[in-house]
Amino acid sequence: MTYKVPFVDPSRHYLKLKSEIDAAITDCLSKGDLIMRSQLRDFEKNFASFVGTKYAVGLNSGYHALALSLQAAGVGAGDEVITVAHTFVASISAIVHCGAIPVLIDVGKDYNMNMDMLEPAITPRTKAVLPVHLNGRVCDMDRLIEISKEHNFIVIEDAAQSVGGKYNGKIAGSFGLAGCFSHYPFKILGGFGDGGTLTTDDPDIARKATLLRYNGEDRETGEYHYHGYTCLLDNVQAAVLDVKLKHLPAWINRRREIAELYRQGLSDMDDLFLPHFGAEKYFDIYQNYVIRTKKRDELYKFLEEQGVETLIHWRKPVWEHKRLKLGQHNLPETESICKEVISLPMSAETTDEHVEYTVHCIGNFFKS
Ligand SMILES: *Cc1c(COP(=O)(O)O)cnc(C)c1O
Repeated sequence: MTYKVPFVDPSRHYLKLKSEIDAAITDCLSKGDLIMRSQLRDFEKNFASFVGTKYAVGLNSGYHALALSLQAAGVGAGDEVITVAHTFVASISAIVHCGAIPVLIDVGKDYNMNMDMLEPAITPRTKAVLPVHLNGRVCDMDRLIEISKEHNFIVIEDAAQSVGGKYNGKIAGSFGLAGCFSHYPFKILGGFGDGGTLTTDDPDIARKATLLRYNGEDRETGEYHYHGYTCLLDNVQAAVLDVKLKHLPAWINRRREIAELYRQGLSDMDDLFLPHFGAEKYFDIYQNYVIRTKKRDELYKFLEEQGVETLIHWRKPVWEHKRLKLGQHNLPETESICKEVISLPMSAETTDEHVEYTVHCIGNFFKS
């Protein structure tokens, strides 16, 4: 179906940047620069400087940024890693695949880790905490870093949804031992396929991830240091991402503008909870504009009929996917979020008219 208001618009996104992108791709292809060449190194350098870390390691997915961060940090069999239940499954799968035990806790009203739940979940086996900066908002990192020092655990940030998000002026992915980003096409800094980046200030983590991503091989000596993987960020993707990185600040501003338009249009409707949580120290970048209502399923259907495309992340708590064997949990906020959230159209291509029409439809829904 074609929507009056699409959730995102990848072809329009490309056409806006066509000349720059085509030039970057043609450059790679005509020079034969496909694997680990200057385009990858340039992107890594520019991305590290954007995030404010010493190193950035280009990978083929956000998942691998998480998995290699954990592995490089020495997280393994028998260790516990605390994360939230309200996240994309990859945050949890990365923990499981490195042999560790995911310990799931609840989130707060801003959809991020509820720091009051953190201390009670810490045990002598807690090796790491993996906060997820969901929807473009950074977690309460002052509190988390303070608790991490007291209890001596590693912090690995899942910043897949928060590229450019800030907390006290500091950028997501620069707080912990490592930061993990996704360049999946519908992430804010998305490629034309899968991709991810690991950021860190720690030279050992950067080196280990750099070896692990390419079969464990030190490319200078030819020595294999680990049984590694094949999970490099392709040169062509890196070249595209490097072009897009220059536009990222403008896209973030546009998203914040769209969020403000939604806020103005939707703020006086009953039974509608908007994602504006205040507090000066947060700079939210709205990977998703998530609203919350008890009438979620009806609203979803109504908007669909009106030609407004929305998404629901996620319809049931992750532990309810029984084959994942995550055990049974009682996390009330996560459970009600699954029944109440819906994400409105949001991208750099979303126009003021798209927002006006969406707001108008939501107004009609709550009037009837
Ligand atoms: C997208 C995403 C990931 C995984 O990224 P991929 O590049 O798809 O592997 C991890 N965590 C969160 C919160 C995400 O949204």
